[in-house]
Amino acid sequence: MLIQVDPLRSMVADIFAKAGCSRGESERIARHLASANLTGHDSHGVIRVPRYISWLKSGNLRAGQTLSVVSETDVFTVVDGNRGFGQSIGEQAVQLGINKALKCGVSIVALRQSGHLGRIGDWAEMAIEAGLISIHFVNVAGSLLVAPFGGVSRRMSTNPVTIGIPLGDSEPLILDFATSRVAEGKVLVAATGGKPLPPNSLITGDGQPTDDPKALYGDVDPARTNDVRAGDGAIRTMGEHKGSGLALICEMLAGALTGGGCAGPDKPYILNGMLSIYISPDHLDTDQVFLQEAQQYIEFFKTSNPAKPGDDVLVPGDMERQRRADRTANGIELPDDVWSAILDTARDVGLSNLDNLASS
Ligand code: NAD
Repeated sequence: MLIQVDPLRSMVADIFAKAGCSRGESERIARHLASANLTGHDSHGVIRVPRYISWLKSGNLRAGQTLSVVSETDVFTVVDGNRGFGQSIGEQAVQLGINKALKCGVSIVALRQSGHLGRIGDWAEMAIEAGLISIHFVNVAGSLLVAPFGGVSRRMSTNPVTIGIPLGDSEPLILDFATSRVAEGKVLVAATGGKPLPPNSLITGDGQPTDDPKALYGDVDPARTNDVRAGDGAIRTMGEHKGSGLALICEMLAGALTGGGCAGPDKPYILNGMLSIYISPDHLDTDQVFLQEAQQYIEFFKTSNPAKPGDDVLVPGDMERQRRADRTANGIELPDDVWSAILDTARDVGLSNLDNLASS
């Protein structure tokens, strides 16, 4: 199903407004979900709508929340997201970090108890807009999806790490990835008729590498449920022992240090913790060499002979820019299951007039 971004965004906003969110919050949620689809990260896009609505109903997520400041100095802030939508809480937390880094040159924001923060690259982009480098470590208390290197039982979630670097007039760098071989949403996409998983992304309960989403979801319909516990397998970490170590660091920084808690079996809610560090190049780059050095180096980096003749060597952020340009112009392709689960959710919250949104 091919859908243009504007009608998709406004339909998603209408769903959240009908479900009890303010118009402003609904549009914010829709904007961030659609941004994930536009950048090619369908796993963090509108596929999440049924799950967010079910979390809103169950109390895992709360509409209209403002973050609470737990503790702060000029440089750091510890904040509690009060289980608000990550799209709202994330914007508030990142703005705090931006304000302090613009003043002090550097800042740290420890965010606990946020609703799902979606594509973390959005938060790096917000810092880049303000001219700031940002580094984000994220964990998901209440979500056990990933087995550590050498293990089979789930002990953590997909724990993303994201780094954004503004480069003046040149395109910024945005490195943004899950520390698992695949994000859980990509298993969800594969399970609902979308792009198949790379081989051996998952591991079965008895230790066999596989790409079958059933290892995670069992036989349930994952587009209509938030139950990822039905399967007896796990997602594997990226980069063998190195990705596993990075994921563990996310638990330490985003879970233990923020006060949001590490992943575990007895957590009542699925929430993100995020430790973010903001750096102002204007403050640190006293010799004013950063931009020229960085831009020249990226040119050098990209002139590496391509492994496949004719291909480009890309830097982090290139792929998302290419996809955003393409999908903004040509629309977003959604698997039929995902689209019909969104339509069902729209009807459930009381929306009508849902015809004519798709174009092929
Ligand atoms: P991915 O595997 O697609 O990797 C994306 C990164 O790799 C980007 O920085 C991209 O620019 C870069 N990249 C892609 N192709 C490249 C190439 N050919 N050459 C050079 N660089 C290239 O991403 P992922 O691990 O599937 O993560 C997807 C999204 O899921 C991310 O946006 C992440 O923030 C999000 N996520 C969120 C949560 C959460 O709890 N909120 C959890 C996990 C993941």
